[in-house]
Amino acid sequence: MASIPATMQAVLVTNTGKDSTLVIKPIPVPVPSAEQLLIKVAAAGVNRADLMQRRGFYPPPEGESDVLGLEVAGVVVAAGAQHKSWLGKAVFGLVPGGGYAEYALLHAGHAMPVPAGYTMAEAAATAEVFLTAYQLMCKIGNLQAGQRVLIHAGASGVGTAAIQLAKTIGAKVAVTASSDAKLALCKTLGADVLLNYNSVAFEQALSAIWPDGVNLILDSVAGAYVSREIPLLAMDGKIVLYAMMGGKDVPQLDLSALFKRRGQVICSTLRNRSNQYKTQLTQAFYQSYGQALAQRQLKPVLQQQFNWQQAEQAHQLMASNGTLGKLVLTL
Ligand code: NAP
Repeated sequence: MASIPATMQAVLVTNTGKDSTLVIKPIPVPVPSAEQLLIKVAAAGVNRADLMQRRGFYPPPEGESDVLGLEVAGVVVAAGAQHKSWLGKAVFGLVPGGGYAEYALLHAGHAMPVPAGYTMAEAAATAEVFLTAYQLMCKIGNLQAGQRVLIHAGASGVGTAAIQLAKTIGAKVAVTASSDAKLALCKTLGADVLLNYNSVAFEQALSAIWPDGVNLILDSVAGAYVSREIPLLAMDGKIVLYAMMGGKDVPQLDLSALFKRRGQVICSTLRNRSNQYKTQLTQAFYQSYGQALAQRQLKPVLQQQFNWQQAEQAHQLMASNGTLGKLVLTL
């Protein structure tokens, strides 16, 4: 195995804030603790959290790398004493930060073997969206076969993973998106009801199609969507909020409508969960769905790969809401 250098190149943020820029500069190679693996990064997923972090809104958890990047794929080149069996293996997984660099630290419990036949870019596009969708839909939403789920931003990274997981579970899936091209992608992934929110009011259209309501709503928009969603809920239905892209304030909230349905509104995050939680989540996901990934019954929707020197272009594309599925940086 090649020796590990003392320094590496990493994408760094200068001028954190609205005028931030990205530059590639040398920094020390991190040293793995007893619980960590050192990964020679081949590809890193791009996430909206990276866009927020460079603007100063989403700092890394205390003590973690402030280099951008929440998920990587690559080869294990060093490992803590208990985890030497990972050495030389191709892995992917969530990192708390530090993904946009030649080397990154991955907690051994968060490592998943790259499925046979996957490119490193595909593997780097898998962890964040599938673990998020699994957490929201299975762990928190408890979605069951035969139930109905509404997934907003269906063509987003998380949306494309959530549609596939929901169909694997045997649920009926409705999605919203801003364009027919995005909805066409959702249809190929198995979505049953396609709602272009620029042509229809999603709540009116869906209540006509599913008069018995929805059991679960995955919502990354929040804001004014929440009050529009409550009347859509079936009895004991849940709205799981995982971002606030449409705003943090909920106008015209009518709690009586929520009580009438014994409804729940739940907010969830992933990055700030404990290592133990992420280990359990990763293992449970891989045990349940690792084979489906390997057989490509579940697969990341990888829109575009960028050389990591073009990280700025990737960020601009994501910020434009023009993405279908995932963007990945390759090193
Ligand atoms: P993404 O792939 O970048 O897709 C986001 C999509 O959301 C956009 O393409 C757009 O699709 C839609 N959108 C954006 N702003 C909107 C608005 N104001 N109103 C309605 N729709 C809007 O994002 P992602 O990776 O799926 O992540 C989605 C959000 O979840 C991000 O904010 C991310 O940080 C967050 N997240 C949270 C967790 C967690 O655990 N809480 C985990 C992962 C991601 P349309 O053109 O169809 O509107």
